[in-house]
Amino acid sequence: MSKFKVLLLDGIDPAGIDVIKRSKEIEPLVYDKISRDELLRLAGDVEGIIVRSGTSVDRDLISKAGRLKVVGRAGVGVDNVDIDAATEAGILVMNSPGGSTTTTAEHTIAMIFALARNIPQAYKSLKDKHWEKNKFKGVELAGKTLGVIGLGRIGSEVARKCQSMGMNVIAYDPYINPDAHLSSGLELVALESIFNEADFITVHVPLADATRNLIDKAAISRMKDGVRLVNCARGGIINEGDLYDALKSGKVAGAAFDVFEAEPNTESPLLALDHFIATPHLGASTVEAQRKVSEDICRQVSDFLLKNAVDGALNFPRLEAGTVERYQHFVDLAARLATFISQMCDGRMQTVSIRYSGEISAMNLNYLTSVIVRSLLMPVLREGINLVNAMHVAKQRGIKIQETRLPAPENFTNLIVIELKTDLESHRVSGTVFTDKLPRIVNIDGFPVEVVPRGNIIFFTNNDKPGVIGAIGSVLGECNVNIAGMHLGREREGGKALALLEVDDRVSKDVIEKFRQVPNILSAKVVYV
Ligand code: NAD
Repeated sequence: MSKFKVLLLDGIDPAGIDVIKRSKEIEPLVYDKISRDELLRLAGDVEGIIVRSGTSVDRDLISKAGRLKVVGRAGVGVDNVDIDAATEAGILVMNSPGGSTTTTAEHTIAMIFALARNIPQAYKSLKDKHWEKNKFKGVELAGKTLGVIGLGRIGSEVARKCQSMGMNVIAYDPYINPDAHLSSGLELVALESIFNEADFITVHVPLADATRNLIDKAAISRMKDGVRLVNCARGGIINEGDLYDALKSGKVAGAAFDVFEAEPNTESPLLALDHFIATPHLGASTVEAQRKVSEDICRQVSDFLLKNAVDGALNFPRLEAGTVERYQHFVDLAARLATFISQMCDGRMQTVSIRYSGEISAMNLNYLTSVIVRSLLMPVLREGINLVNAMHVAKQRGIKIQETRLPAPENFTNLIVIELKTDLESHRVSGTVFTDKLPRIVNIDGFPVEVVPRGNIIFFTNNDKPGVIGAIGSVLGECNVNIAGMHLGREREGGKALALLEVDDRVSKDVIEKFRQVPNILSAKVVYV
């Protein structure tokens, strides 16, 4: 019997369904069309849902999908998936943008050619039975300057292909290091240089606060007269009203859009302008891209369910298949330290400071931090918390998470230090993994110790006076609790001291209460790891 069920909706390309079918452990449930009621009914019985743009994976659906672990969107846009609701419910959301890169880059280049040679206008005129040879004189692309804004997957492919057409390509992307390995001859410049120097400008950025209206009236005024603009990214990056005015005045010689601020859109005033050409969001619409995005997302969902691999997730850091297994000792250390300290501290959690140093800092630390936060909250929230929603839940509860990474080792080749502050107290534990791959706590609140954090541990602080340890032993003997191991640490002779006792069985509150009555014991707690 299959371990998992995955719903494949919206006419997902069969190539992806084949990927799912190849794994005998996942049962695909394929519905090209499905009623909302049927969908809500089936959602409660599946671990995965894969959609294109047709199905709305909203809060209501997510609330009914008790076993759901992952939602996959074949393609880029996830407007139809409520990512916040999914994150709150601990459900991973993935998309597969890479599969449409070449296709969208080709569409962009088609738009640049169409703009340069007035192909759509000439075609329409000829269809209307006019032979207007002089009206549609165009411009050559070779030797022209193309400004690419956003040098990610699509932008860099457009840049490379346009260079091979003889264009001089300049690019703006503030998130790319100038030392990055760029296609030869491609120059990273300031946004202002794009505006000042480009004959054609094409945008390939996501739509965000910083990129909405990136090209508006003020930006256009700084461009060359007769500039041509292309938007095959997202509607709203080029301000539609300002573009209308600039096309009307002739400042912008032509513009090509594949995307609009509101879609579908057949009413935009821009559509009435001769020098404005457009396609109805066809950027990713090729047979090959649909196949690739479908294969990609089905592989991602299947790898997540079967191999714990996270690729293309929008609400979780990337994890290659096998990473968790390879670094299991660090994952285990992180979880045990967090479980330990969460039980040491009373009160409401306020701040968690995590420091990673040494070889551990080469790992995916976002993942380790999620492991720590999940383990801290697990005693309180149980199954309500998982790796996907841990950071979100912490934020919602007003818990600040601070993370520091130090590539250089500090005393140990690898070290995790967790400091937890609550409204009542603050504690710090440090842990490492030696070559035996066993996790060790090596310091508690400044006291050096060496303890494997596992099992039932009674944790005391006391004044370093004779007789304390003997008294503890007597209490445990009276209560029939067997000591399996003991670890002591002290700041100095006669100062404060700390003891950790590993015991064979769980101890009751009464036993802990008895310890608290022993002279010179300052605190006593029991921790289960
Ligand atoms: P990507 O994430 O690979 O690249 C985006 C790039 O934009 C990144 O390099 C990033 O550093 C850069 N960037 C972010 N903010 C910026 C800013 N303020 N200024 C300059 N650069 C900035 O994305 P991609 O896959 O190349 O997709 C690019 C765009 O194309 C996205 O908006 C995507 O949604 C869209 N897209 C449209 C279609 C379509 O059907 N028309 C298909 C696929 C993708």
